[in-house]
Amino acid sequence: MNHERSRELYDRALSVLPGGVNSSVRATQPYPFFIERGDGAHVIDADGNRYVDYVMGYGPLLFGHDLPESVQSAIQSHASAGPMYGAPTEIEVELAEFVARHVPSVEMIRFVNSGTEATVSAVRLARAYTGRDKIVVMQGGYHGAQESTLVEGDPHNPSPSTAGIPQSFADHTIPVPFNDPEAIRSVFEAHGEEIAAVLTEPILGNNGIVCPVEGYHETLRELCDDYGSLLIFDEVITGFRVGGLQCAQGKFGVTPDLTTFGKIVGGGFPVGAIGGKSNIIEHFTPSGDVFQSGTFSGHPVTMAAGLATLEYAAEHDVYDHINGLADQLRSGLTDLLEERAPQYTVVGTDSMFKVIFTRDGATERGDACGAGCRQDPNCPNFDSCPKTGADVANAETDRWERLFWQEMKDRGVFLTANQFESQFVSYAHSEEDIESTLEAYAEAL
Ligand SMILES: *Cc1c(COP(=O)(O)O)cnc(C)c1O
Repeated sequence: MNHERSRELYDRALSVLPGGVNSSVRATQPYPFFIERGDGAHVIDADGNRYVDYVMGYGPLLFGHDLPESVQSAIQSHASAGPMYGAPTEIEVELAEFVARHVPSVEMIRFVNSGTEATVSAVRLARAYTGRDKIVVMQGGYHGAQESTLVEGDPHNPSPSTAGIPQSFADHTIPVPFNDPEAIRSVFEAHGEEIAAVLTEPILGNNGIVCPVEGYHETLRELCDDYGSLLIFDEVITGFRVGGLQCAQGKFGVTPDLTTFGKIVGGGFPVGAIGGKSNIIEHFTPSGDVFQSGTFSGHPVTMAAGLATLEYAAEHDVYDHINGLADQLRSGLTDLLEERAPQYTVVGTDSMFKVIFTRDGATERGDACGAGCRQDPNCPNFDSCPKTGADVANAETDRWERLFWQEMKDRGVFLTANQFESQFVSYAHSEEDIESTLEAYAEAL
């Protein structure tokens, strides 16, 4: 594979963009390939190489790179009418109505411009609504590049996970291990009256894909109810992907007080949103006193792309198709692992998937979790499949990133850049793509 032009572009990029990229995860080793264009489920790079794409923009692209006619024309007509105004438009109301109609916990929604902005505003709202400062987050959870959640450590020693964040921010954040009801129970026993909210992804989607064990979300719901704290589901990655149009909260049957959205709800354009019951959401300005504002919020082109995307998904077999193909892929990967690397674990649900290079998985295979870990206590791999962010971090992350990712790339398969980020099947993927992908895995594993 020739990468001359990508190399040249990266050389130029390094002079004007820190690390040569605008989002750190894109700086793959030794240098990233630059993308020229998309084509269905594939991308073509600057040197003309073609890859089956499972990155899908890190989540937003439900349909792959060829948008349905209705989505394209919605985008084009709103862009050509004038991109934005600083005054309300009908399309924002329509997208809000659509989300409120389909997502169980949402009565009202505020649109913003990124998932990060959504979680920042949700945390501010929860603090104002409860009059409390502390938030509980999951170790290995991800809520964007924000001060209150870029925190690591344990409940007794939280610290910023990046330079540039004062310790005093981290002091208000309590990181607990995902899937550990006892850990969060004791945090509530010690600090319950100070906790504004528990903020969690329903599935850890930026940390190897870790699904909840039976009853975990119910425990969170109960603790929040008992102590008057809000439960916030960060559905930026799972929203309109896991559980289809009702999102992961519908799939798991747990109703959060607030939900953050991003990615798919903008149909491929920058977006975020905070949804929930009206009596909470109305605390945002101008109806309430929690300041929230944005020049580009509710951008008409984004709203049009998001609405046309969700309407198309409502009227076609989108979720059946992508979940079916992903099931096929996860099953095929499970079979491959049995033969080649029985200690590794296939994870994922709906259209999300990943192979985790776990170090000491059970070598006997049960049929309970044949197409991705479901946290089934009867599965022979239950004790070794990842339950927490730390379990994923303990996998062979270097081997994954430094060897395996390149091997797959050289075979024309574009995976997310490291062991932690989820991969996605889109509506544009075909059975042939799945088959060629499994062949590449068979060679690379
Ligand atoms: C992607 C993501 C974010 C951040 O969204 P941005 O649009 O990148 O700011 C927040 N939370 C979760 C769960 C995400 O997957």
